[in-house]
Amino acid sequence: MKTALVYSDKYLEHNPGMGHPERPERLKAIVNGLKRFSLWSSPEIRIVEPRPAERDDIALVHDPDYISLVEKMSALERPIDGDTPTKKNTFELALLAAGGSIKAGELVMSGEFKNAFALVRPPGHHACRNHGGGFCYFNNIAVMIERLKRDFRLKRIFVLDFDAHHGNGTQEIFYADPSVLYMSLHQHPLTLYPGTGFPDEIGEDKGRGFKVNVPLEPGSGDIEYGEVMREIFVPICEKFRPELFAVSAGFDAHFDDPLTGLRLSTEAYGWLTTMVITQAEKFCEGKVVFLLEGGYDLEALAGGVVYVVRAMLGERFHPPEERTRLKLIDELKMLLSEKWSL
Ligand SMILES: [Zn+2]
Repeated sequence: MKTALVYSDKYLEHNPGMGHPERPERLKAIVNGLKRFSLWSSPEIRIVEPRPAERDDIALVHDPDYISLVEKMSALERPIDGDTPTKKNTFELALLAAGGSIKAGELVMSGEFKNAFALVRPPGHHACRNHGGGFCYFNNIAVMIERLKRDFRLKRIFVLDFDAHHGNGTQEIFYADPSVLYMSLHQHPLTLYPGTGFPDEIGEDKGRGFKVNVPLEPGSGDIEYGEVMREIFVPICEKFRPELFAVSAGFDAHFDDPLTGLRLSTEAYGWLTTMVITQAEKFCEGKVVFLLEGGYDLEALAGGVVYVVRAMLGERFHPPEERTRLKLIDELKMLLSEKWSL
């Protein structure tokens, strides 16, 4: 068995309310897309039911007071910020999303599966140590990483975040931590929530040089992403030599997404995945865990996930041949040169 998809119908019960883009239909569209391509029932795939995370797991990342706040707000059905409402079941389902992420990580680290995709809701990458926001309550990928660091003594984890929004929560949590190399490709912070992720945010103290922010102008698409992956992602992997790849997989950089101005094709999710898997094969026996973040056009979202899963199963996709010159790449190489010669 090669690939695990961690999923529960319970994730459909998370409902931030009428008209909210982070809606249950997102996950229904993904499951239907995978069924349409006979991936849901593929002999190479197992669907694995998650267990909720324990409060102690969440506390590896978040302040206890913040965990209690989410629990209390959820009981009262009060929002934790303007974009991030709660219902009675929000706390419980946020624990299940973090638990599903831990599960996906364990399945890969134990060697039971080569790779895994946690198809979870609510998403996590905007959740900071002591505040949530941007549809996120607990930072699923950070909780997973802290559990895996503890249980499997991991020392080098590469997090690639290709959601169109900057993962400000993930960056904040690991800002001084050199064991987590966080690289984010996102729409320029002056043009999109949450307004962070400038190139000079490279980490602090021992973590300096381990945060790589690639803000892309609205209108950027496959050619720009291909360039950044070839010029920054591949060489930095070779220097960092990860023991695990974790991907914050958001699908809102797609050209049909209603929330952003980026222009990725659906196929791009295939070659982005192939590029990650190629590096993972080189350094860590192909160990990659994907976690669902955003993506708000149902067809683009489902299509993107289908490409990711096809690439996880071994199909190979290639970035565009066409090249371009981005000043941003020179700027990043210069900023990161105190740590890496790329
Ligand atoms: Zn997003």
